[in-house]
Amino acid sequence: MSKRLRVAVVGAGAAGLCAARHVLALQHAFDPPVVYELTAQVGGTWVYEERVGCYDNGHPIHSSMYRNLRTNLPKEVMMFPDFPFDPLLPSFLPHQEVLRYLQSYSQHYGVTPHIRFETAVEEVKPVTMETGEGKVTWEVTSSGGRYGRRTETFDAVFICTGHYSDPYLPSIPGLEHFKDATHSIPVSGAVSLLEMALIGYHGRAVCKTALKETSAAAVVILSHGKPPLAFPLPPQVRQAPPVRQVLKDGGVEFGDGSVTHPQVLLLCTGYSFSYPFLSGASLGLQVEPHLVSPLYKQLLPPAWPSLFIIGICKIICPFPHFHTQVQFALAVLEGTVLLPSCAEMEAEVRREADRKLMEGVQPRHLLKMDSDQWGYYRTLASMGGFSPLPPVIQSLYEEVWRQRRRDPQKYRQINYRLVTDTQWEILELQPDRETNGERETER
Ligand code: FAD
Repeated sequence: MSKRLRVAVVGAGAAGLCAARHVLALQHAFDPPVVYELTAQVGGTWVYEERVGCYDNGHPIHSSMYRNLRTNLPKEVMMFPDFPFDPLLPSFLPHQEVLRYLQSYSQHYGVTPHIRFETAVEEVKPVTMETGEGKVTWEVTSSGGRYGRRTETFDAVFICTGHYSDPYLPSIPGLEHFKDATHSIPVSGAVSLLEMALIGYHGRAVCKTALKETSAAAVVILSHGKPPLAFPLPPQVRQAPPVRQVLKDGGVEFGDGSVTHPQVLLLCTGYSFSYPFLSGASLGLQVEPHLVSPLYKQLLPPAWPSLFIIGICKIICPFPHFHTQVQFALAVLEGTVLLPSCAEMEAEVRREADRKLMEGVQPRHLLKMDSDQWGYYRTLASMGGFSPLPPVIQSLYEEVWRQRRRDPQKYRQINYRLVTDTQWEILELQPDRETNGERETER
């Protein structure tokens, strides 16, 4: 390669830190990255924010972390494979420990000095269309921070802005009649209440905290469209079918015709993908960056093989996922991976989507990977010529899911240890600790 490539990384959460760490490791091929970060610190989702609404710089609060969340993956699976957590910590961690871990990762790999804090990326667009070598240059416009409004050019851009910050609000007839219906993000602000309705399957995760935050006599109604939860719920929790409408007097009518008048209506309906700094038009896409289905190997738009969206998939092991995708993306930039033609990549994307649709996957769940993730990681590693994830990650991940299905209240009391690349063991059962207020988490 004749000249070192310049890489921009948008976001200094786990994915952005991972991207920058691997760029820095390949000094022969890449200049040190420029990492843009909206907030004043690293960690993204893992920075718990008591405030709701906006940061001092006017940007919407990014984190949707819950006050007393503990991870739903053990640290032995969750970690970046090249950077273990402190072995003295238990397997399932409070969010503060994950933040500390990410801060150490950033320091250890020398990423922190390359981060421009309080700097928001406002636009990412391709400027040099096709040069003789078929390369594209990217213009990144940012504001805030030390440099104010500024536009710089890069050879490649890693989008690492996460997807748990833009609340998805379902259209419920009459919702406007409920004063202060709110998305689940600010649940930690709930106070002594008598009745609370949680809407959406994600509400099961919010339930415990809601119970803790409400008065002892509170009733919590968990309304969702899935089969009723089979494991025992606290006596104050009632399950209900999806909401049909909100009545003029603020009453909430469920699918079975029952009506209730909760004090709080909490929409636990997940998040939308949002890339406000990428315009579908400038990328030649028919739709605004849903960018989602047209991604080759779940990370790059076929027409723009130097734009990488890291971590867009769901039901994954996020940190190992980022670790694998980032190395694959860098192998593409270095030329180790020779990408097929744009038409072939698009055809593969379509085939993949069709396969899932044929298997009965709903279009909105096309990005859920679940058990597909393991084959995906092996494919990326073999194409990119880097070490695959050790098989013990999959084996322990599957064990934890088994435990979680068996006893969702207690699976986090077990501690694990990795013995070899293929073997794990249970350390000891923790005493039956109080698990109230510890919430299931999303990935
Ligand atoms: P984020 O952490 O969201 O980071 C994105 C960063 O981009 C942020 O710092 C943000 O400020 C920055 N940014 C956004 N827009 C801009 C912009 N325009 N300009 C500059 N910077 C920008 N994963 C697990 O492995 N285990 C768990 O137990 C677990 N629990 C979770 C619980 C909850 C409640 C949630 C929401 C997620 C959980 N996850 C869990 C998944 C979690 O999302 C991932 O672990 C991971 O932190 C995602 O990292 P990310 O870098 O993709 O995104």
